[in-house]
Amino acid sequence: MATEETRRQVVIIGSGPAGLTAAIYTARANLNPLLIDAPADTERQTTPGGQLMITTDVENYPGFAKGIEGPELMMEFRKQAERFGTEFLEEWITKVDLQQRPFTLYTENRTIKADTLIIASGASAKWLGVPGEAKTPHGFGGNGVSACATCDGPLPAFRNKRLLVVGGGDTAMEEATFLTRYAAKVYLAHRRDKLRASKIMQEKAFRNEKIEFLWNTELVEILGTQADGVNAVRLRDTRSGEDRTTDVEGVFIAIGHKPNTELFKGQLDMDAVGYIKTNGHSTATNIPGVFACGDVQDSVYRQAITAAGTGCMSAIDAERFLDHLPVEMPSGEEITDEGEHITADRRLIIEPDGEIISNEPAFE
Ligand SMILES: Cc1cc2nc3c(=O)[nH]c(=O)nc-3n(C[C@H](O)[C@H](O)[C@H](O)COP(=O)(O)OP(=O)(O)OC[C@H]3O[C@@H](n4cnc5c(N)ncnc54)[C@H](O)[C@@H]3O)c2cc1C
Repeated sequence: MATEETRRQVVIIGSGPAGLTAAIYTARANLNPLLIDAPADTERQTTPGGQLMITTDVENYPGFAKGIEGPELMMEFRKQAERFGTEFLEEWITKVDLQQRPFTLYTENRTIKADTLIIASGASAKWLGVPGEAKTPHGFGGNGVSACATCDGPLPAFRNKRLLVVGGGDTAMEEATFLTRYAAKVYLAHRRDKLRASKIMQEKAFRNEKIEFLWNTELVEILGTQADGVNAVRLRDTRSGEDRTTDVEGVFIAIGHKPNTELFKGQLDMDAVGYIKTNGHSTATNIPGVFACGDVQDSVYRQAITAAGTGCMSAIDAERFLDHLPVEMPSGEEITDEGEHITADRRLIIEPDGEIISNEPAFE
C-alpha cells in the first residue's frame, strides 16, 4: 500500500494530560499541531486519552472541587485541544528517525515529517514474569490475571471473589481499594514490611475492612485451569523462604509502570530505567527540536497535573525553538532552530525577524 506523507511544524505523540496540554498551547499559538495516539489495544495497553482513562475518581486535579472521573477529565482536555484546531490521528507509531530535521515518524500507512516533535508517550504497567501470569493460553492473563483493576475489576469473573493484589505503591493501594467495591475479599501482598505508597493512600487501604495485608510476601506462581481460570496462588515468605498456597480467583499485578520509550532507544538519552532525560529548566532532549513531557520523562512525580505542566513547557519550548529563540539543552548550552549553539552564560540579541545579531557574555 502507498504511504501518505504529511509535514507539520509540531507533531505530538500521546493524548494523555501531557500531550493534550501541549496541543492546547501549540494550537493556540497557530502552529496547527498534529497529535498522534495509538488506538485502544489491550495487548499494547494503549487507550487514547492515556492512563487516566482507566481510573475512576480523580480527586486531586485542581479546578474540580468535587472530583471528576478520569475519562471525563480527558474528554474535557481533548475538547479544549480540538477547539483551537488540533488535528488528531489514531495510529500506532512504529519507527522514528530523529537523526535529521525534519524528523520522520512512521505508522503502518503514513510517513509524517515534523519540524519539532513533542514526546508525551507516557508509561505502561509492569509485570512480574511469574508462571501463570502470561496471557492465556500460556498463562491466565485475561482469564483471571490483570494489571488494571478499574478496567477488569467490575467483570463478573471477579465479582464476589477472593482477589490478590501485588505491590506496595500508590497503584497497589488504589487497585486494592477499588476492587473492594466488587470483591468478597482482597489480599494485598507486599515483599517488605513497609509500603512505598503515599500516606493518604496507605491509610485509606488500612481502613478498608475487606483488605488483608500479607507482609513480607512474594507471589511466585499463579495456579488454575484454562477452563475455569485462576483458583490459587503460591506465595513465599521473603524472610523464611517458605511457600504456601492461598485460594483466590483473581490476581491484579500493581507494581508500577515503565516508560513508553522503546521507539527512541539509541536516539535519545535516557536514564537506566528508560525515562527520557530532559533539562531541569526545559523539556529539551539531547536532540534539538525534540521535547519530552509527562510520565515519559518523569520517574518521580507521575501525576496528571505535573504531566500537564510539563506539556505546557514542551509547547512553549517548541514555540521558542521555531521562533529561533534559544532553548536550554540538557548539556547546559542553549540552541535555536537555526542550529546556533550558544552557551548558557551568553546573552542573545535577536532581531524581530529572528536573526541573531549579537551573542554577548550575559555577565561582564
Ligand atoms: C490507575 C491509575 C490511576 C491514576 N490516578 C491519578 C489521579 O487520581 N491523579 C493524578 O494526578 N494522576 C493519576 N494517575 C497518574 C496519571 O494518570 C499519569 O501521571 C498521567 O496520565 C501521565 O500523563 P502522560 O500524558 O504523561 O501519559 P499517559 O497518560 O500515559 O498517555 C500516553 C499516551 O501515549 C500513547 N502512546 C504510547 N506509545 C505510543 C506510540 N508508539 N504510538 C502512539 N501512541 C503512543 C499511549 O497510548 C497513551 O495514550 C493515575 C494513573 C493510573 C495508572
